Amino acid sequence: MKDISCTLLVIGAGPGGYVCAIRAGQLGIDTVIVDAGRPGGTCLTVGCIPSKALIHAAGEFDALKRMASGKGDLGIRAANATIDLGITTAWKDGIVARLSSGVSSLLQKARVKIIHGKARFRDGKTVEVETETGLQIIRAESVVIATGSEPVELAALPFGGPVLSSAQALSLTQLPNKLVVVGGGYIGLELGTAYAKLGSQVTVVEAMAQVLPAYDSELVQPVMRRVSERGIKVMTTSKAIGLSPRGEALVVEERGVRQELPADRILVTVGRQPQVTGFGLEDLDLDRAGPFLQIDDRCRTSMRGVYAIGDVTGEPMLAHRAMAQGEMVAEIVAGRNRGWDSRCIPSICFTDPEIISAGLSPDDARSQGIEVKVGHFPFAANGRAMTMHDEEGFVRVVARADSHLVLGLQAVGAGVSELTAAFALAIEMGARLEDIAGTIHAHPTRSEAVQEAALRAMGQALHL
Ligand code: FAD
Ligand code: NAD
Repeated sequence: MKDISCTLLVIGAGPGGYVCAIRAGQLGIDTVIVDAGRPGGTCLTVGCIPSKALIHAAGEFDALKRMASGKGDLGIRAANATIDLGITTAWKDGIVARLSSGVSSLLQKARVKIIHGKARFRDGKTVEVETETGLQIIRAESVVIATGSEPVELAALPFGGPVLSSAQALSLTQLPNKLVVVGGGYIGLELGTAYAKLGSQVTVVEAMAQVLPAYDSELVQPVMRRVSERGIKVMTTSKAIGLSPRGEALVVEERGVRQELPADRILVTVGRQPQVTGFGLEDLDLDRAGPFLQIDDRCRTSMRGVYAIGDVTGEPMLAHRAMAQGEMVAEIVAGRNRGWDSRCIPSICFTDPEIISAGLSPDDARSQGIEVKVGHFPFAANGRAMTMHDEEGFVRVVARADSHLVLGLQAVGAGVSELTAAFALAIEMGARLEDIAGTIHAHPTRSEAVQEAALRAMGQALHL
């Protein structure tokens, strides 16, 4: 097979890698992208997209079940609700297939050469790929490592048999009767809630004193109320010891006391680790930040011409961060003067209700010695929330006490994920409380709670 020479080689076609390659192609850079799996990476194939499809289906089924139970206040009654998880999974697979082939088309449109196979470094500028038709050598002036991350496996609970990784939990065709989730972070709570809505009896085992430790307790409380209403059992300050001798239960230790939790499936979601082994990276001896690749504000690694983006570079391991890094690196390779200057990377936890955060929380700001004004506005006082029959949660705004510069915005509530754009925009544009308060927010919407939270921080709330 003839060797390939190119200007830019991207290893990994997840959201970081494919966005980098598309932008590079648009800028006229001769670009090759290699992936061992399907275009779209973790996000598209076993992450963001399939999990949100399952969460949506579970929410629809749950609403129907409540109507069928005759309990709803809306006067809607339905007959006995049922779900065929095989059909749900097939629908989800269809979305993944459409988006993955969409990524291939976008890469082709940008004239990026796609090579399927596992890449392996020979040196910092040369990579070999095991393709279906033989070994392909690629030489590049610049290389972007966008190999992403993989689930952390617990030594006492290796994946296999009843022990599932998140990827396996997204492709079940039979509903587990009793599901124990080890790790109450993003994936554990998102998928644990979805399975509880689908009808599984769910227990979450979390090592820390609170689930979703990435968010403060004020934001997590409304989620915990719902979790308890759904009958999900949460064990905090607890650790999984291993399977019981006959394998039909999980042995758990809670504050020194051991017990067996019967389980037909155990989902382990205790974090993700960078994909840095098995492809010759060790020989490049790049600087590390813990297990991750160390990068500077231009995503440069310690080797000239070698960049790294996305999950392989550490927290926050989010698709939109990977994409933003990918776009930036493509422009840098094209000779443009770019550096990482984003003021915030918004985050969403797709629990019920959803939690969102952009910028600093009140505690973050205070721990930096900043005096702040904090305004809350509850959805219980928002007309749109009432008409949508879900008044749980609130919006919170954090601003400097002296200048009213908005440092952070958070919310918890139904459908608040769509507010992240407004939150990030306010912070990026250096908004002050007066800017948010003085912007006409359309009625009736949940976003009015953002304006009211800003007004409240200034002691001027109109609807509370
Ligand atoms: P990845 O998406 O992991 O892609 C890396 C790619 O590199 C893969 O396609 C892999 O096949 C390829 N690769 C690796 N090694 C090689 C090699 N040697 N040769 C060739 N190819 C290689 N983030 C959000 O922002 N929002 C969400 O709602 C969200 N939900 C998630 C839900 C789940 C269940 C999971 C697991 C993750 C979720 N994430 C979410 C995180 C998100 O998926 C990641 O942050 C994102 O995919 C990282 O992108 P990436 O490009 O760095 O790597
Ligand atoms: P996570 O870091 O969100 O949560 C892991 C949880 O497991 C933590 O609460 C931790 O305290 C707990 N834990 C660790 N070891 C444990 C043990 N031995 N026993 C019990 N609990 C233990 O990790 P995750 O849920 O696996 O998700 C991985 C990453 O994927 C996230 O950090 C996030 O970046 C990304 N993700 C994002 C979204 C989103 O944006 N909506 C959704 C899913 C995943």
